Amino acid sequence: MNLVLLGPPGAGKGTQAKLLEDRRSLVKLSTGDMLRAAVAAGSELGRQAGDIMERGELVPDALVIGLIAERVDEDDGGNGFILDGFPRTIAQAEALDRLLADRGQKVDAVVVMRVNDDALVDRITGRYTCARCGEGYHEAFKTPKVPGVCDRCGGTEFARRPDDKEEVVRSRLKAYHAQTEPLIDYYERQEKLKSVDGMAEIGAVQEEIDRALDAA
Ligand code: AMP
Repeated sequence: MNLVLLGPPGAGKGTQAKLLEDRRSLVKLSTGDMLRAAVAAGSELGRQAGDIMERGELVPDALVIGLIAERVDEDDGGNGFILDGFPRTIAQAEALDRLLADRGQKVDAVVVMRVNDDALVDRITGRYTCARCGEGYHEAFKTPKVPGVCDRCGGTEFARRPDDKEEVVRSRLKAYHAQTEPLIDYYERQEKLKSVDGMAEIGAVQEEIDRALDAA
């Protein structure tokens, strides 16, 4: 099964994608993670994408489509892919349909996580990760059991994404509404769309996604 997770920044796509990866033996592909790795590595792609990401705008379609095409080509996908943060435009969705069709596959289901914008700003600006193991935390919803010490690895250094500042979050939300939201219609017309309440707590969202996929 190839699955797309759709929703605004901060909706919990990354968290749910990770959970789905383990439960359903799917391969998670996150263009945000790939782009951040390219920026950290200082590659040509990272140089092209870094400033755009810091402004909270979308990286050009050709760059992200190229990234996904490469990964889909080199991986057999196991039971399928979970796409987290891709596609984000109609052009990307069309490219994905073509890429999968070339392999005799398709997008089987699209889960859209619905959340309201005000909650998103609080969710995103409060989040941070352990710099050593990447475990995610939040100032209000999930703090380490021992303050300043990662529950998972004992690390004491934490990091925030540079694009999680409030003004950047607002432009990321604007990009979502203008460029990504039209995908809801695109997939609804293909009768692939499942909508879940992204405001519920992590376990409840997970159960709702499972029910939606089992009915797909
Ligand atoms: P994310 O981690 O998915 O929130 O992505 C972080 C940033 O990477 C976004 O704000 C965009 O600048 C860029 N990005 C990630 N995925 C895409 C995509 N599919 N299309 C365009 N830009 C993307």
